[in-house]
Amino acid sequence: MLSRRGEMQEFLELIVLQSRRPFKTQLRRLGLLEFNSHKLLRHFDIPVPNGHVVITPEEAKTVVSSIHAPSVLKAQVLAGGRGKGKYNSDGKGGVRIVDSPNEAFESAKNMLGYYLTTKQTPAEGLLVKKLYIYKAVDVAQEYYVALTFDRDRSMPVLLISDEGGVNIETTVNKLQKYWFHMPHGIGPEITAYIQAQLGFSDLEMATMSHILRQMVELFEQKDATLLELNPLVRTKEGDFICLDAKFTFDNSASFRQHGLFSLEERSPEEELEYEASKLGLSYVRLDGNIGNIVNGAGLAMATNDLISLYGGRCGNFLDVGGGATKESLSYAFKILQNDKQITGIFINIYGGIVRCDMIAEAIIAAASQMGGFKVPVVVRLQGTNCDKGLKLIENSKVDNIMVEADFEGAARTIVRLTSEEGP
Ligand code: GDP
Ligand code: MG
Repeated sequence: MLSRRGEMQEFLELIVLQSRRPFKTQLRRLGLLEFNSHKLLRHFDIPVPNGHVVITPEEAKTVVSSIHAPSVLKAQVLAGGRGKGKYNSDGKGGVRIVDSPNEAFESAKNMLGYYLTTKQTPAEGLLVKKLYIYKAVDVAQEYYVALTFDRDRSMPVLLISDEGGVNIETTVNKLQKYWFHMPHGIGPEITAYIQAQLGFSDLEMATMSHILRQMVELFEQKDATLLELNPLVRTKEGDFICLDAKFTFDNSASFRQHGLFSLEERSPEEELEYEASKLGLSYVRLDGNIGNIVNGAGLAMATNDLISLYGGRCGNFLDVGGGATKESLSYAFKILQNDKQITGIFINIYGGIVRCDMIAEAIIAAASQMGGFKVPVVVRLQGTNCDKGLKLIENSKVDNIMVEADFEGAARTIVRLTSEEGP
């Protein structure tokens, strides 16, 4: 059996892992920048600073002049650990306390337009385009408070610790875990435990209970998978205020959380994937040079495998699905055309519901729209109306296009045409 400490370590790693995923795997979860998280918390009556978003050093100076120093300047990137992060400009972190409007200006000059690397970013860091500024809070104590799902127990769980802040990973043994039922929320037994463990006065516990109640409300209403307040601080005046929050939301709930998902921050690559998904295309960029347009996830994977087998490398996974239309195909071409790393395109369609002659017409239309194909294109059509489709392409005057009926032959051809030695 796992020790309590081991169990908690595992749990925290799970949370850290969840927050890192957007950069590592294709599993996408909605992430919000801090200022949007704060808006959401405010909406649910969870106290947050009155912050301002700026995009220039001049604006940073103006904001600090009006809210007065000391103020906190925070880099807005989709990653935690900013305080301990490192900028490629001056080597300093992504959370800075400044003592004057001029210092705000100078700091912002080194933060905006530069890359911040933290434990949760890729090695080259993330470009910072916005800063969030609020009047510095006098911190008496930092707490960590999070809600997430414990999949082993199929229950939501509250994690809480009075050693929150930037060193949370090292104080994981201080995390208290409380499982609860969603319809009941965090009941009086749990709050009594929390009060005893963390030594809150009755007044403080009343405020904390309100925050916890509101967190559960937000968690449920917004289909969240993680709500993490770190730190939620107790101020020298005895108030509670959340300084930093990280949320993730269930992507499958996007159909009923339009407002929330419209706030999503995407990298340029994710933007392409998102735009493609709106047209029913499943697009994932890979690091090779052969662009594929395929229908069906199974055929897409087989195509990737076959290309690898013949020594080629795929530049994407692009499944146009069973409902491919001229419009979606034309968008698929546009994505590949704009991708500088693509040196050849392989169109591999099995006509079931979709008709190969329609696909052929879409390919010809796309070629004329784009003024011809600039890279070699190999087309393999099989299934419904494939003879008609292949004939249409053969008879078209489109340059740089080859038709093949055989899967293996087509894969070999595109690898040969795009290999470094050339055709
Ligand atoms: P993170 O490093 O990305 O998690 O960014 P945070 O927003 O959590 O900030 C890092 C740390 O900066 C916090 O844990 C606090 O210790 C500190 N910090 C942030 N805002 C304030 C503030 O208003 N006053 C004080 N005293 N410290 C702050
Ligand atoms: Mg934090």
